[in-house]
Amino acid sequence: MGPNVFLNDKIVPSDQAVISIYDHGFLYGDGVFEGIRAYNGRVFKLYEHVRRLFGSARAIAIDIPMTEDEFANRILEVCSLNEVKNGYIRVTVSRGVFLGLDPKNAKSPTIVISTDNLALYPKEMYENGLHVVTCSTRVPPPQSIDPRIKSLGKYICNITAKMEANRVNAGEGLMLNIQGYVAEATGDNIFVARGGKLETPPTAAGILEGITRNTVIQLAKNLGLEVVEKMLTLFDIYTADECFLTGTAAEVIPMVSLDGRQIGTGKPGEITGKLMKAFHEYTAKEGVPIPPKK
Ligand code: PMP
Repeated sequence: MGPNVFLNDKIVPSDQAVISIYDHGFLYGDGVFEGIRAYNGRVFKLYEHVRRLFGSARAIAIDIPMTEDEFANRILEVCSLNEVKNGYIRVTVSRGVFLGLDPKNAKSPTIVISTDNLALYPKEMYENGLHVVTCSTRVPPPQSIDPRIKSLGKYICNITAKMEANRVNAGEGLMLNIQGYVAEATGDNIFVARGGKLETPPTAAGILEGITRNTVIQLAKNLGLEVVEKMLTLFDIYTADECFLTGTAAEVIPMVSLDGRQIGTGKPGEITGKLMKAFHEYTAKEGVPIPPKK
């Protein structure tokens, strides 16, 4: 049995949620996805995630046969059936089931919504900070695929980069763009603090426009901090006062070294601490309530 899964307009138990070997997501990585989080029985930034999903799908010309509101309601319905309080919601949309590359043969997309428990970073990593290495695998250039599209296939770059980080037991891997500017970590966006201001790469650096990133920018502004979006080089990270990563799974996590260079004091910084606190307070009260199970 297991939890319920939404699969192509039906709710099915997870062990019966099967898709075709000819699904384009499986054959070619031809699809888009979202990772969403629920806190205290509420879906955090639900409409922002659905909007990004629809934007990703639009960009690769997958037509989702639902409105954004209908899609958001489907997500809430699955969460309600599974009585989700805290957890991870994975949404995947592929171009559908057909053999061969040509998208003109596509009929209808495959849509999957599932809920899971979240694998969190251990507590010590939040207290002590992550040691990060720069990976040789670069984010793809927008001439190939715009990194703002959260596409399935693109993630082979992130997975390869994560393997590089794992090989040296690093907490995360940092990816550069083709020009050599800092883009993002394998599953998180990056910020530095310098002279009391925050700096983060712009979307033009080749990053996913993280929903946690946008939340943190807003929270920082509420705290009176200036946030500058600018191209950063490795030098800017090595010489920053503080550094942290943001993402749905990681939330706000300090980064205390890069490529063996200590960042700032080598301990999680004061501004990072303030933003971690502000983020936790925000997730404790924000989100779209999951209706009780009928
Ligand atoms: N960059 C990449 C490559 C990611 O996979 C993620 C996680 N979705 C992020 C950044 C952070 O985005 P968000 O805050 O929306 O989870």
